[in-house]
Amino acid sequence: MKTIQAYRFALDLTAAQERAVLAHAGAARVAHNWALARLKAVMDQRRAERSYGVPDELLTLSLSWSLPALRKAWNAAKDTVAPWWPEVSKEAFNTGLDALARGLKNWAESRKGTRAGRPVGFPRFKSRHRTTPSVRFTTGAIRVEPDRMHVVLPRLGRLKLHESARKLARRLEAGTARIMSATARRDGGRWHVAFTVEVERSERLPARPCSVVGVDVGIKHLAVLSTGELVDNPRHLTSAQQRLRALGRALSRKTGPDRRTSRRPSKRWERAAARLGRAHARVANLRRDGLHKLTTRLAVTHPTVVVEDLNVTGMLANRRLARHIADAGFAEIRRQLAYKTSWNGGRLLTADRWYPSSKTCSGCGAVKTKLALHERTYECQACGLVIDRDHNASLNLAALAAESYTAGSGPVAARGADQKTRVRGQVAMKREPGTASAGQTGTVPPQGRTTDQALTKAH
Ligand SMILES: [Zn+2]
Repeated sequence: MKTIQAYRFALDLTAAQERAVLAHAGAARVAHNWALARLKAVMDQRRAERSYGVPDELLTLSLSWSLPALRKAWNAAKDTVAPWWPEVSKEAFNTGLDALARGLKNWAESRKGTRAGRPVGFPRFKSRHRTTPSVRFTTGAIRVEPDRMHVVLPRLGRLKLHESARKLARRLEAGTARIMSATARRDGGRWHVAFTVEVERSERLPARPCSVVGVDVGIKHLAVLSTGELVDNPRHLTSAQQRLRALGRALSRKTGPDRRTSRRPSKRWERAAARLGRAHARVANLRRDGLHKLTTRLAVTHPTVVVEDLNVTGMLANRRLARHIADAGFAEIRRQLAYKTSWNGGRLLTADRWYPSSKTCSGCGAVKTKLALHERTYECQACGLVIDRDHNASLNLAALAAESYTAGSGPVAARGADQKTRVRGQVAMKREPGTASAGQTGTVPPQGRTTDQALTKAH
C-alpha cells in the first residue's frame, strides 16, 4: 500500500541559517505578490476596456492562472522585479507562485460551486507581518544525513535537527520511502522541516479481528469508548490553557499596533505576543500528542472503529470556545482514524449525521425526543437504564457496526458496504493540525475528503 505521509521535525537553526530561510520565505512572498498584482492589473484593464465597449477579441490578453504560466511570466520579469533573484533558490519563487495558482483555482472552483466546504475568497496579498514564513523544495539535494540529526536542503545546506529523524531515515534506508518535497516553516516561534514522503506500507492485519469500538468525542473527556473507558485529555493541557488565557489578558493590557493611527506596538507588547504565540503552540502540541496517542491505540487494537459524523464546517462557526476546540479535535480524530485504520487493515465507520446516538437507549433502543446538553446521565424511561451520557452514545455507535454486518439488503449494503473497495478509495494522508499547508505551499495534491463509509440505522 502506497501512502503519502508527512514527517515533521523541529530544527535548531543558527542565526545565519534562520536569515537564509527567512530570505527564501520572503522571496516566495515577493513572487506571490508580484504575480497577484499583475493578474489584478490585467483583470482591471479588461474590465475597463469592456466597459468602453471594446470587443472581446481586442481586449488585453488575459493571463493564464496555471503554475507553469505564472512561472514563465515571473522568469521573464524577475531581472527587473527582483534583481537579487540569484541569491535564493528558484524553489522559493515557485513556492509563492504555486500558492497563488492554488488559491486562484480554489477560488474559481468555489465560485463555480464545484468545491466543497466554505466559500473561498480571491487570493490576497501576503504581508510580511502576518504570513507564516515557509519555503518548499521539490527538487535538488534533499536528504537526511547518516547521523540522523541533520538534514540537507538545497541552498540552505546542512541544518541541525532538534530531534532524531530515525523513523524517516530507517524507511529511507530500507527503500520503503521516497522524499517528494521538504518544507521549512516557522510554527509558533520554532522552525520545522516537514518532508512529504511516499511510503510503501506492508499490509497489516488487525490484532483482534472481531473487536468493535464506538468512540464518542466530548469536551470534558477527550473521548468516551464503548468499552466504558474514559480517555482523558493530555496532562498539563488544562494548565496550559489557563496560561493561554492569562497571557491573552496580559497582552491586551499592553500597547499594541493600531492600523488607523499607524501606531507601532511597544516592545512589551511584542514580547507578550511572542509569549502568547509560544503558549498557543504548546497547547496545540499537547492536543496533537493526545489525539495521536488515542487514534493509534484505537486503530491498532480495534479493526472496526465507529464514530459520529458531525457537520464540522457548520460547528466551527460556533463561537463557544470549548465546543469549538472539541469539534476541531473531533475532525482531527476522524481524519487520523481514517488513515490509521486503513494502515492497520481495519475500517472506520461513520454514523449518519442524523443518527440520534445520544438520545437512543443503548439497552432497549428507545429514543428520547429531547436530551439537553447539560444532562450528563442518560436515564431511560422505557427500561430504567441509568448510564453516563457519552458512554451510552459510544455503545450505540458500536452497535451500529454490528447492524452493518447483519443487514443483508438494508440501506447499509445498498450504499456499498464492500470493505475492500472503500479502504482503497480512502485518502490516508497524514497532516498535522495547525500546519494546514495544503493550501499554502507546494505541489503535492491537496488532501482529499476521506471517503468514510456512511451508515444509516437499519430499519
Ligand atoms: Zn432503555
